[in-house]
Amino acid sequence: MKTIGLLGGMSWESTRSYYSAINEGIKKQKGGLHSAKISLFSVDFAEIESLQHQGNWQQTAVILSEAAKSVEAAGAHFLLICTNTMHKVAPDIEKHINIPILHIADATAERLQQDGISKVGLLGTAFTMEQDFYKGRLQDKFHIEVITPNQVQRQQVHNIIYNELCLGNIKEESRKTYLNIVDDLALNGAQAVILGCTEIALLINQKHTKTPLYDTTQIHAQAAVDKALK
Ligand code: GLU
Repeated sequence: MKTIGLLGGMSWESTRSYYSAINEGIKKQKGGLHSAKISLFSVDFAEIESLQHQGNWQQTAVILSEAAKSVEAAGAHFLLICTNTMHKVAPDIEKHINIPILHIADATAERLQQDGISKVGLLGTAFTMEQDFYKGRLQDKFHIEVITPNQVQRQQVHNIIYNELCLGNIKEESRKTYLNIVDDLALNGAQAVILGCTEIALLINQKHTKTPLYDTTQIHAQAAVDKALK
């Protein structure tokens, strides 16, 4: 079994989900007392969040590259960046390590393709929904059309992530907001919706809606399990 490298803490609420999902996956496939070999570096998210909102992505890349080097030094065979948003600096991090990055958008797109989905809605931080590093990859590399909520809704989705979900606060009112936005995306032709932020599944899941949801945390974790056991 290979050692899975995790760059976590963004936020730790979702890193906890990764840790469980990866270990559940290994247990399911190997049984008994088997558990995942993991090397984890967990950052202080307050530092990262502040740099994100200042637009200082270069400094986030410096911090995450150093962290990634530690993960590699601790024996990881490949690396997961446990957040969609910080894949914005994945190309910078890649330059500082010798192990491959298992990209969250690639893992998700492969799953969408297997299920024959060609038009998808995307929920995530404003950075993920509005910039090209994520949507562009789905469109250019996998030919999946990506639609996002309107501007007011994007702001709601973004604020709920940073002000509630990353702090572990789950509110019924916010769940309703998200589910209304999922409905609108489906009305606009999305065959499915990507939960493109690793905390969103703490708020909504498949039992809340008929629209198929693609939880990037679970998909990324499962891809790691498959790669570790291959
Ligand atoms: N975990 C979130 C994501 O998947 C947001 C936190 C962050 O900005 O990294 O995008």
